[in-house]
Amino acid sequence: MGKRYIVQTFGCQMNVHDSRRMEEVLADAGYSPTDSPTLADVIVVNTCSVREKAEHKLMSLLGTLRPLKEQGRQVTLAVAGCVAQQEGERLLKKAPFVDVVLGPDNIPELPTLVAEAERGAPPIARTVFDDVAPSFLMARPRHEEVTAFVTTMKGCDERCTFCVVPYTRGSERYRPASDILGEVRRLVDGGVREITLLGQTVNSWFEDLSDKPRGKRAPSRSRFADLLRRIADEAPELTRLRYTSPHPRHVTPALVDAHRELAVLPAHVHLPVQSGSDRLLKRMARRYTREQYLESARLLRSARDGLTLSSDFIVGFPGETDEDFEQTLSLAREAGFVAAFCFKYSPRPHTAALALGDDVPEAVKDERLARLFEVIAEQQDAHLASLVGTRVSVLIEGENQQVAGRFTGRSERHEIVHVEVPEGARPIGEVVEATVVSAFKHSLLGRMDGGIPIDVPKKKKAKTALKIVGSP
Ligand code: SF4
Repeated sequence: MGKRYIVQTFGCQMNVHDSRRMEEVLADAGYSPTDSPTLADVIVVNTCSVREKAEHKLMSLLGTLRPLKEQGRQVTLAVAGCVAQQEGERLLKKAPFVDVVLGPDNIPELPTLVAEAERGAPPIARTVFDDVAPSFLMARPRHEEVTAFVTTMKGCDERCTFCVVPYTRGSERYRPASDILGEVRRLVDGGVREITLLGQTVNSWFEDLSDKPRGKRAPSRSRFADLLRRIADEAPELTRLRYTSPHPRHVTPALVDAHRELAVLPAHVHLPVQSGSDRLLKRMARRYTREQYLESARLLRSARDGLTLSSDFIVGFPGETDEDFEQTLSLAREAGFVAAFCFKYSPRPHTAALALGDDVPEAVKDERLARLFEVIAEQQDAHLASLVGTRVSVLIEGENQQVAGRFTGRSERHEIVHVEVPEGARPIGEVVEATVVSAFKHSLLGRMDGGIPIDVPKKKKAKTALKIVGSP
């Protein structure tokens, strides 16, 4: 029997994407996947360090894997991702039973390091950034896949004071347009209908590195809108082109125009704001004001009928007063977010905010988080309820596992829609028109109109392939 691997993923979509690349390099080295840790020859834990909880989860997971090593089984244990990059050799001291610590830029080396560990090499930490010659591993189309991610850049040149990413992912490196277009083409030819461009500040993308602005206060000169246009031109069969996560200061007039003119861009943007208080935004070094953020939101909305926005928030950042938090609530209302990821601040190593202390009591953070959730939930409920009776175009991603005859996909605005289809229909990978018949807490129920998909792809029978097995 051949050798087997498990890659367990924590954290963001960038990590999910990296996990896929790890699976691919392991498959090239002759490994096949398994779900069972007791059968695996290699276990990779791909980690996230954005929040403290994720690190705790890692240490507790490693604790559960440790007996596999102690029982004398020949299994290689690798820790990858942001905690690996952040901790490096320290992680080997904290968990000496780990064999390989691997930074995000060192994924191609994974099979070699695993092979060396199997031959008895001592534990190793390999966490070197590829600043000089950045590499971007090409995603491979998977059988029956509807949606896929394509990396456009990595690293981050912003210095948000709460964020460890610039430390764990290095400075910004942009992928050449020809590479991005090649990967998009390959995925679309393989049957993918929706692509999400991926980057820490995805809309800061540059083609010409010599044109890259230097210095902290440099205004945005992003060429991201040009990239969107080139993809739209060169892959006209693509149904939807999303991107995540944009930074508000790179929402340029050209990007707003792209939303106005490119039908392939869906009517939804996830635009992280973090706080509604100018004082806090400054302490966070977000490099935009509340008014500038709201103006970008207004411009995006005016570019496309029915465009919805979602966002990210941090509550309880050091020094956050009741007044600051009220500003956050009022911004959430004014921007009309229909969804948001909201988190309590937790100090992270290597971040400037460490020097500010952590002075908002936990109970206050909890209370503010609950109030913010409440505002977002109210807006989400109202938004979903307003869609009942309307027609939506749904890109079907897979079969509903709970209810027979239902398939699940996303609307153009990114709402999850469960669609009842006529008997015998299996419209996976197709865009169907459905009438919304009811709204759930986080999703919609629709009924497929007429029984005929409005947009049948050339390649049929597709589904979303990747399972996220953990989150921070
Ligand atoms: S933009 Fe800010 S929050 Fe986002 S990855 Fe960069 S430093 Fe972190």
